[in-house]
Amino acid sequence: MYRGYKVKLYPTKAQAVLLDKHFGCARWVYNQMIVINQKKYHRTGKGLTGYEMSGYLPKLKKQYPWLAEVSASSLQFVCHNLADAYGKFFRKQAGYPRFKKRNGRGSFTNIGGSHLMEKHIQLPKLAKVKYRGGDRPEGKVRKFITSQRAGKYYTSVVIDTPAHEPDAAEPSRILGIDLGLHDFIVTSDGQRIKPPKYLRKYQAALRRAQQTLARRKKGSNRKARARLAVAVLHEKIANKRKDFPHKTTRSLIDVAENQGYGVEDLNIKGMMANHSLAKSIADSGWYQFLVFLKYKAAAVGKPVLEVNRWFPSSKACSACGIVNRTLTLSQREWTCGACGSSHDRDINAALNIALETARNAVRGDGVIPTVVRCTA
Ligand SMILES: [Zn+2]
Repeated sequence: MYRGYKVKLYPTKAQAVLLDKHFGCARWVYNQMIVINQKKYHRTGKGLTGYEMSGYLPKLKKQYPWLAEVSASSLQFVCHNLADAYGKFFRKQAGYPRFKKRNGRGSFTNIGGSHLMEKHIQLPKLAKVKYRGGDRPEGKVRKFITSQRAGKYYTSVVIDTPAHEPDAAEPSRILGIDLGLHDFIVTSDGQRIKPPKYLRKYQAALRRAQQTLARRKKGSNRKARARLAVAVLHEKIANKRKDFPHKTTRSLIDVAENQGYGVEDLNIKGMMANHSLAKSIADSGWYQFLVFLKYKAAAVGKPVLEVNRWFPSSKACSACGIVNRTLTLSQREWTCGACGSSHDRDINAALNIALETARNAVRGDGVIPTVVRCTA
């Protein structure tokens, strides 16, 4: 199983120049190889394999000596990536490979001569580059994909994580998680995690930056600066979007008492097919939250169990199980007519999800797991 580990690079000025050279050469070789492929295709009706394209590299290097300033393996990867792009085109999974433009973006892939250390990453011809990143997954590094966006540099380290993750233990305590609208999530132990507010703030700034960009004269320096400002904001929003679910899931996984997790099966794929819903789901970050929760839980052998989405999690009393059919969406708090328990709507729902998960997860020894509740 492959997992990407993305780190932000902090290159020195000289390293940044060399990084830019790598992007430039990778782009140039990519475009050159498209031309070579097209000629070959016209002559023979066949494209080139990645290895055949690599075979042209020594000749190109003789003709264009500056190609030797960058890592050889990064140029070989360009050939293989382009061969993959042609493969996708011939299988009708993608359009015809396009020439790459010089647009402030770029990437190159490599494996040889690279190495990930505690605070530095060794990249080919670049020596040690400082980086920052989150939790690093365990496993063998398969390749490094270094890229540039909006004036910033990143490396995605593709790691082959051990195929055998620890077997999911039979949980004895389950935390219920309800994905809310008012709160991002509510848990059966009473936590309410609010959706991040910064998004709206950044989106407003982005709209203003886009308007400025539209007003600037074509080809002017001010237009170039405005374009960079838009790209920087896009990048900020994308990073923040990932940051939040990463932190939230980490905080839920790190609690030892939470041995398993119950979530509603929201059939997100089905909902994503519905356009207006898809936008609000993508915005809220639920999907990413669930993906992160599942892989982080799997890495420590804790199961994430789903309960049927039609199960009445909000309307059932978590104390006695009676379903309150008169409960409306606007009622945030209610008292059970049968047993007199008073409930917070969302925490009650999270508790019901935990209880339903526990009932479905009867262990081998016949014991039903308990649920993690709020103690207040
Ligand atoms: Zn009740």
